[in-house]
Amino acid sequence: DPRVHAIKTKIRVVPNFPKPGIMFQDITTLLLDPKAFKDTIDMFVERYKGKNISVVAGIEARGFIFGPPIALAIGAKFVPLRKPRKLPGDVIFEEYTLEYGRDRLEMHVGAVEQGDRALVVDDLIATGGTLCAAMSLLERVGAEVVECACLIELPDLQGRERLNGKPLYVLVESH
Ligand code: IMP
Repeated sequence: DPRVHAIKTKIRVVPNFPKPGIMFQDITTLLLDPKAFKDTIDMFVERYKGKNISVVAGIEARGFIFGPPIALAIGAKFVPLRKPRKLPGDVIFEEYTLEYGRDRLEMHVGAVEQGDRALVVDDLIATGGTLCAAMSLLERVGAEVVECACLIELPDLQGRERLNGKPLYVLVESH
């Protein structure tokens, strides 16, 4: 798809952010280009329209940028999966390991129901721990995770292998 190359060129790579040795993939530069941003959303919408997806679950923070326009276009509800102590209602949570220490994702009780068909959206998959925690939240309340979707995969980190065989769709790979 010729759109992919243009999308990839709009993602800025920032060396040594947020700490030495990390090559940070910055999607804010993609958002500055309305055509590339729209192409990104369109590519996901084309893939998921008509697939009977009832909920798009977006992961804080950049899943909140890409998830809602996809949800609106395919006629699904949007549910935010948030960092600790952000959601005001009753929540369930899943912990996951980071390079240093642990973090958790929380989801409002009642937002996703038994039988919902879910798409999980984030900007990037690195080790896969975040997507794995997101899928656990959805499956615990009886949803079926249809697929995970990210703009960027860092394939060298083999995050795909932590997804328990769930399909992952990405637009660009970065080495
Ligand atoms: P994982 O859990 O190791 O797969 O890390 C993925 C999470 O970390 C996602 O929520 C990403 O937004 C974030 N992340 C890790 N590296 C980058 C990066 O280079 N750019 C933007 N987000 C990143």
